[in-house]
Parts: sequence; structure tokens; C-alpha cells
Amino acid sequence: MATVECSMCKSPCDIKKTTNILEFQLCGFCGWLMERSVGTMIQSKNMKILWGQRSLEKQDWIELKSFLRSNGIKSILEYGVGLSTELLLLEDYEVFSLECLSFYAQMFSRKVGQNVLHYEAEIGPPELNKKYPLSIIDSPKNGRAKEAAHAIRHTERFIYMHNPLEDQISIIEPAGWVPIKSLSQYHGYYRFYEKREA
Ligand SMILES: [Zn+2]
Repeated sequence: MATVECSMCKSPCDIKKTTNILEFQLCGFCGWLMERSVGTMIQSKNMKILWGQRSLEKQDWIELKSFLRSNGIKSILEYGVGLSTELLLLEDYEVFSLECLSFYAQMFSRKVGQNVLHYEAEIGPPELNKKYPLSIIDSPKNGRAKEAAHAIRHTERFIYMHNPLEDQISIIEPAGWVPIKSLSQYHGYYRFYEKREA
């Protein structure tokens, strides 16, 4: 039986049961999820939003949106594309997206039309010639210490972290970033940091 590695979750799968999306092959689960999530909001194809599929819960989004509005934030630097990207674009925010998963970056660019800059996770994101008032860091299980270090160089005021991990906190807090607000939902944990001058 011919097997192939799923471009999304990297698990081996039966080639006859994969879904072809663009030039990628996805296992049954990832194919199902991608076809029903990425780009479907922007293209108005989805009746329901897939809240909490490793992404924001609805309440988290309401909280984040209120925070952006009350602080006059218009542009955002984001580490990791996904549901939050589409939600932000629908509200006309300017979003600059960095993504370490090449398959996801390409798929998002094509299906959402968002320009996503791909980088290698082991190397970290490239230096940008601009700072953003707020950045959003999504934290996969293995952490994103490089992204946290990058964010404190490229963010003026707020960092919003999804499930902040010790390796990220140990970079952000000594650099003068103070946790100002936390939100704990059954799905995950979110924390806002604000830059304070020493
Ligand atoms: Zn998969």
C-alpha cells in the first residue's frame, strides 16, 4: 500500500485516502478540516465558524476585538495564521502574517488572498523594517521562543499570547513587558502584555 506524509500533520497516510489541495496531499482529517475552514469566511462559504479548532473561542475573539477597539489598534503583526487572521481581515484590520508551516502559509495565501511570509521554525522570522502596535503569538506545544524574541523587537505596545509558555515568558517579562490582562477559557489561555519603560 502506497503511503505519503500528510503535508499538514505530518502523519503517514494511505495515498488513496488523501485529499489533494493545491499541490499538497493531506490525510483525511486534515483535508476535511482545511476544506471547511481556510478561506471559507473570506469567501462567505461557511455558515458556521469553527471556533476553538486549535484557534480562538468566540468569547476570546469578542475580548480581543474589544481590546483592539478600545486601544485604537489598526494594524497587527501575527505569528501563525488561522481563524484569527480571517476574523481580523473581515474587520478591516491591517494584518502582517508570519507562518512557519510552509504548507499552511501557501494555502492561506491562495485561499484567503492574504500575503503570508513563510519562515523556517529553526531559524526564526526575518527582521522587518517596521514595528506594529500589537502582535499576536500563537503557541504550539513546542513553544515559540524565537517568535517571542522577534515580537519584542517589532512590537510597540501590546503582545497578545495564546497559551504563553515558560520559554516565551522568560524572554518577554525581563524585557519590560508586563501582563495586564488574562483570559482563561475552557479551550485555552490568553494573556495580554504591555510594554513598560524601565
Ligand atoms: Zn494530516
